[in-house]
Amino acid sequence: MTRAAWHVATVAEVRDETPTARRLTLEVPTWPGNEAGAHLDLRLTAPDGYQATRSYSIASSGDGTRVVLAVAEVPEGEVSPFLVHDLRAGDQLEVHGPLGAYFVWRPGGAAAGAEASPLRPVQLIGAGSGVVPLVAMAAAHDEGADATPFRLLYSVRTPADVFFADELRAFAEAPAPTRLGLDLVYTRDAPAGAARPPGRLTPDLVAELAWPVEQRPRIFICGPTPFVEAVAGWLVAAGHAPEAIRTERFGGA
Ligand SMILES: Cc1cc2nc3c(=O)[nH]c(=O)nc-3n(C[C@H](O)[C@H](O)[C@H](O)COP(=O)(O)OP(=O)(O)OC[C@H]3O[C@@H](n4cnc5c(N)ncnc54)[C@H](O)[C@@H]3O)c2cc1C
Repeated sequence: MTRAAWHVATVAEVRDETPTARRLTLEVPTWPGNEAGAHLDLRLTAPDGYQATRSYSIASSGDGTRVVLAVAEVPEGEVSPFLVHDLRAGDQLEVHGPLGAYFVWRPGGAAAGAEASPLRPVQLIGAGSGVVPLVAMAAAHDEGADATPFRLLYSVRTPADVFFADELRAFAEAPAPTRLGLDLVYTRDAPAGAARPPGRLTPDLVAELAWPVEQRPRIFICGPTPFVEAVAGWLVAAGHAPEAIRTERFGGA
């Protein structure tokens, strides 16, 4: 496993991800690479020396020195409004990582620490910016032309709030068996012709859209803490093995 360390990062590119989120591409010359699903700690230092550090998932993976993040603005937050509105290409900041050997997916079908088992499907479940590490997994699956059956269930407010929309669409249109099964559940506004009216995920909807218990899927859930805890609880109640479920909590109440 790669040892985590502090690195100086230069912002290579910033672009709008959604109306309230920004995609940040960092150039980190000393970055050792990272697995799909890993995160890092990002540290900002003010001119007076005050420092603030927050965790961000990495949307990219592999050996390169480009590290892609996507940050949603938490109104009244200390760090995220700065990253979303004020950070510019050429700015420098510090990152510590890669972190999180537990919440990673490795091409070849084996979750970290688990036996290789290529035929066990993978179910990704995310809400809002919680899709970021799941995008890294779906991209690694796509790039590696991995045959593990992959599905993503993504709970998002409106069509405009979908992170990495073009990338996800492309993964969902890839040839079988690499194709990503993509289910978008809109909580506030659904597009015309959507499969269902807007509404939050429910235990029944998760049971309908996720791989069934009999297929023994590996499950990765990421998003705000209450979302992750609710969905993980429904899955266990439905009969999924707790050890098959890996979670990443972004915080928030
Ligand atoms: C492992 C990990 C990975 C993460 N990855 C991402 C990512 O890829 N993209 C991303 O946008 N965020 C991510 N986060 C959340 C991120 O670390 C910050 O918590 C978030 O950016 C808010 O920071 P802030 O300084 O703006 O808010 P703060 O000043 O820390 O908090 C302001 C208020 O907002 C609440 N709050 C804090 N975080 C959240 C949240 N996530 N949702 C709702 N309310 C919150 C706090 O309880 C507080 O009341 C991740 C968190 C973890 C632990």
